[in-house]
Amino acid sequence: SESLTVGDLAKKLGREPSEIIKKLFMLGVMATINQELDKDAIELVCAEYDVEVEEEILVDKTDLEVYFEPEEEAKKEERPSVVTIMGHVDHGKTTLLDSIRHTKVTAGEAGGITQHIGAYQVEEDGKKITFLDTPGHAAFTTMRARGAKVTDIAIIVVAADDGVMPQTVEAINHAKAAEVPIIIAVNKMDKPSANPDRVMQELTEHGLVPEAWGGDTIFVPLSALTGDGIDTLLEMILLVSEVGELKANPGRRAIGTVIEAELDKGRGSVATLLVQDGTLHVGDPIVVGNTFGRVRAMVNDLGRRVKTAGPSTPVEITGLSDVPQAGDRFVVFEDEKTARQIGEARSATALQEMRSEKNRVTLDNLFDQL
Ligand code: GDP
Ligand code: MG
Repeated sequence: SESLTVGDLAKKLGREPSEIIKKLFMLGVMATINQELDKDAIELVCAEYDVEVEEEILVDKTDLEVYFEPEEEAKKEERPSVVTIMGHVDHGKTTLLDSIRHTKVTAGEAGGITQHIGAYQVEEDGKKITFLDTPGHAAFTTMRARGAKVTDIAIIVVAADDGVMPQTVEAINHAKAAEVPIIIAVNKMDKPSANPDRVMQELTEHGLVPEAWGGDTIFVPLSALTGDGIDTLLEMILLVSEVGELKANPGRRAIGTVIEAELDKGRGSVATLLVQDGTLHVGDPIVVGNTFGRVRAMVNDLGRRVKTAGPSTPVEITGLSDVPQAGDRFVVFEDEKTARQIGEARSATALQEMRSEKNRVTLDNLFDQL
C-alpha cells in the first residue's frame, strides 16, 4: 500500500504530528493526524526535511497483502487448481463434493476415516485438484469481501430437472466478478425428467454458451448420485487449469488464506489454511490475520499428520495465539520475533479500530446516552 497517515509519517521523520500538519498547511494541504497521505504529498513533506523517499518508507510491513506481491516467474512450478462448487440449493453441491471425494479417495488411503477440514484434494491422471468444501457462496462472498482470491475455477451445478434458478444466477455473477473460469455441471442426469437442453438454453441467456453451440463454456452432464460423468468433470478441470498456467514457487516462505477456523476445547485455536504459494512447515513462525504463533502441528484432509504443505494444499494447523477468521491472509516470517512484532501490531490496530468504532459519537447514540 503506497500510503502513510500523517501520524505515521511524523513518526518516521522523528517530528511531532502537529509540525507535519503545519508543513502540509503551508504546502496547501489541509490534513488531520489520521489522514492518509499519497505518495506525492509524502514526497513534498520529505523534501522540506531534505529526506529522500525510499520505496521502503511506503511499505507498511504490517499489511499482509504486501507479501502477496508477484515474484519471478523463473522459480515457479505448476500447482494444482483450487475449485469452488456453487449452485442453487438442492441442485446437488454437497452430493457432488462427497461423490468426487469418495470415488477418488480409496478407503485404504484414508484409513476409512476422512476428516472435514473445509477443503480436500483428489488425484486425476496423476495431477492433483483441490476442492473447497465450504459452502461455495460463503467462500466467495466472505473471501472476496476481504480481498482474498482463492478460487481458480468455479463449478456451477445446475439440476437438469430444475434449470436455472435465482442462486444459479447469483453464482454466475460471483464467478464473473471474480474473473474465474466457469464449468457448468449439469446434474441429476439420471432422472427421467432431466432436460439438459433447457439448462443450456437458459444459461445462454446469461452469456454462457456451450461449445456445441459455438460458445466457449464447458458443460458436463453428470449424476452426482450415480457418479456418471464425474471423471469427465475432473478431466475438464485439468484442461481449464492447464490453460490457466497456474504456478507457484514451493521454495518460498508460505503465504495463503484461512478457509475456516474455530476454538477447539482440547487443541485451542484450530485453523484450516490454504497454502497459495510456498511451502508451509511445522515450526514456521506465522502471522494469520490479527493473530500469530508457530505452526505446532499440521493435519491434512485425510486426517494424517504432515510436516510440510506445498502450494494449493489445504491443512489444518494448531499453535496460534487466537482464532483467525475465514478469508484472513497468512504469511510465514523468517523468525519468531518478526512474526510476533507484526502479529502484535496487527492485533493492537484491530483492537483500536474496534474501540473507535464503539466510541464513535453519532447524533443517534449521543441522544441515547443523554
Ligand atoms: P445442495 O443443496 O446443492 O448441496 O444439494 P444436495 O447435494 O444436498 O442434494 C439435494 C438433493 O438432491 C438430495 O436429496 C440428493 O440426494 C439429490 N441429488 C443430488 N444429486 C443428484 C443426482 O445426480 N441425481 C439424483 N437423482 N438426485 C440427486
Ligand atoms: Mg449442500
